[in-house]
Amino acid sequence: MTIEYPVAGRWTSGESSREVRSPFDDAVIAQIPSFSAADVDAAVEVAQTAMRQAPLATHERAAILDRAAVLLAERLEDIAADLAREAAKPIKQARVEVQRAVSTLQFCAAEARTFAGDLIPMDAAAAGVDHLGFVLRVPIGVVGAITPFNFPLNLVAHKIGPAIAAGCAVVNKPASQTPLSALALAKVLFEAGLPMEYLSVVPGPGSVIGDALVRNDDVEVISFTGSPEVGWSIRASAPRKRVGLELGNNSPLIIRADGDWRGAATAVRLAGFAHAGQSCISTQRILVEESIKDDFVAALVEQVGSLVVGDPLDEATEVSALIDRSNTDRVKSWIDAAVDGGATVAIGGEMTAEGHVRPTVLVDADPADDVCANEVFGPVVVVRGFTRFQDALAEANDTRYGLQAAIFTSDINTALHAARNLDFGGVLINEVPTWRADHMPYGGLRDSGNTREGPAWAIHEMTEERLVVIKVGPPQD
Ligand code: NAP
Repeated sequence: MTIEYPVAGRWTSGESSREVRSPFDDAVIAQIPSFSAADVDAAVEVAQTAMRQAPLATHERAAILDRAAVLLAERLEDIAADLAREAAKPIKQARVEVQRAVSTLQFCAAEARTFAGDLIPMDAAAAGVDHLGFVLRVPIGVVGAITPFNFPLNLVAHKIGPAIAAGCAVVNKPASQTPLSALALAKVLFEAGLPMEYLSVVPGPGSVIGDALVRNDDVEVISFTGSPEVGWSIRASAPRKRVGLELGNNSPLIIRADGDWRGAATAVRLAGFAHAGQSCISTQRILVEESIKDDFVAALVEQVGSLVVGDPLDEATEVSALIDRSNTDRVKSWIDAAVDGGATVAIGGEMTAEGHVRPTVLVDADPADDVCANEVFGPVVVVRGFTRFQDALAEANDTRYGLQAAIFTSDINTALHAARNLDFGGVLINEVPTWRADHMPYGGLRDSGNTREGPAWAIHEMTEERLVVIKVGPPQD
């Protein structure tokens, strides 16, 4: 039976449907509707009318978000199981994602209660004497949220949560492979009191549903998380909209001999391989001081060799399938090309019996190889050595991406030099570049994007600043 989705203020199963299949074993998981561009336009119209005719007070928005966080936590097991099925995310990691979405909603509720405008000291200008000025932050309008497959719940929460906090209605287009988590989030929000008109979830192809959102003049903001290719094409085709882009990375990790390199090897076990490396900040390029390189590679191989590869619903599994066959083939071909070019396989490099890429550590791949120069988005890390620290910084910075980078060192001066000179949106010290908390400013430079996410920053993008000036006359008597 086709699952119903909330579109334009009502539950509907559309006019046609399609199957969602497991990336792990191709089993049919769900039958979901196929919507059209006309459904998107209807959803936007209903959203805009709701904002105009039935605005939600701040205390209502905050209470909805708080209640939704409680409901999400109560349904953690069911939602994690759906997420594991649709994305092939190992169930233990799927549970962590649900917990993170709970905290994202809690942070959004807190921001809803506290974000405010500014008082402007008008009499700082001579002409401003006898004037009061302040800035109100008003909801910008309907938000179009286009989201990727790899965190299909928490990254949707990072857009819908701030939009509700800001007082905006939202139309979400989830990734085609992962439409179930977004639906689960919508259900808890409605149960928590969000009027249906405030949120539509419209699954369907990016080229149809995503494009319709981008083209709709009544959508004021597009909040997009996904690949640079799609993201920048959206930016180019919507010059009059606010377009926030959260894109990819090929995260570098520098390890100095004076740093806790054993701790780094342990951390990379999941930082490079959780969800088969399909995180925008998955650790990818590891630059290690030559004097410890062999020992570090040995420690990393031991860690990676202990990863359990298999069925996402198996409690023991830590790495499962990539999202689809074409990405599996792409990642394998990048590994093979690096090896043909002279890289050594320290571990992995081949497929499992079920046809999935084994966790792979490559040593000394050429910086121009795809596994270094581009975003692998697969279970592969590359280790390269360095002798001069300045060379490691230059190599880390030599990328079209700029999301997060990291360094392990025990020397405070080296750490602070790295913080100043690594040209990324975030620099982590004695922590992997894959680390993220849901209330921090998160975003990148260059091909990694043009904005910051995290409830406080996203709410800023979803509000307009309105200046109010009052001329103050003399008192009546
Ligand atoms: P993607 O292929 O760019 O897809 C992202 C979303 O855009 C999907 O919903 C997709 O729909 C939609 N889309 C595709 N073509 C479109 C078009 N022409 N117009 C409008 N929307 C369109 O990315 P992905 O493969 O899902 O995700 C992986 C990428 O996301 C990686 O590069 C990763 O680094 C990045 N990412 C970044 C962050 C961050 O916060 N910086 C977080 C997570 C992921 P369909 O599914 O229907 O194609």
